[in-house]
Amino acid sequence: MSTLQDNTILDIKDITHIYGSNKNRFKALSNINISIRKKESVAIMGHSGSGKSTLLTIMSGLMRPTSGTILFENRDVYNMSERELAYHRNENIGFVFQNYYLDPMFTALENVMMPLFVKSDLTAIKRAQKAKQMLEKVGLESRLNHKPSELSGGECQRVAIARALVMEPQVIFADEPTGNLDSKNGAIVTELLLNEVKEGKTLVMVTHNIVQARKCNRMVLLSDGRLV
Ligand code: ADP
Ligand code: MG
Repeated sequence: MSTLQDNTILDIKDITHIYGSNKNRFKALSNINISIRKKESVAIMGHSGSGKSTLLTIMSGLMRPTSGTILFENRDVYNMSERELAYHRNENIGFVFQNYYLDPMFTALENVMMPLFVKSDLTAIKRAQKAKQMLEKVGLESRLNHKPSELSGGECQRVAIARALVMEPQVIFADEPTGNLDSKNGAIVTELLLNEVKEGKTLVMVTHNIVQARKCNRMVLLSDGRLV
């Protein structure tokens, strides 16, 4: 018997997270509960150090919490085997970070192709085609062969979004994706992410920017590791 509503994609149940041990013990999250529906956009706000990145990392399957459960489509993420968990992250989850995390040695096209290398059934040509499509989607068709150092911050973040989308994930997690951008580029990036929600994806975005947070369906506020 499930207590989940049919349209819940992520159920965060009673998450507590403690960093360090003994004297260095620090409780970063206390008893967090949130249900996120399919096709919802959720903005997570809160002061620096309030636990936003910790929560995103746990929700996305990157870090096991000290206690509590994350259900993705009713499956307990941290009860999966390592292999299942890796598959879950590759197939279902896309990430966008404040600092883009592009590989400086590779072009925009190569950076976007990278996640596709786990798909052994795709030919090199198909991978390049798919990556090119994604870069077109974010308006960078004229920058395919540029390296990150040859791109502006806004363009780098659009490459990072293309890379996050290329596996067609169900949920996109973005941790302060506009934190390094001016307001014009920030608005472009938020618009690209919200467009994905219109196309059926779910977005969980950490932001300090109230204007951009308001564009989401819902805002949640963290304060000292608690939801308020
Ligand atoms: P936010 O993203 O809201 O700024 P974080 O989730 O990054 O906050 O951090 C929440 C708290 O946990 C902060 O006080 C931070 O110093 C602490 N913290 C984060 N990561 C670690 C870590 N790896 N080890 C110890 N403390 C950490
Ligand atoms: Mg953070």
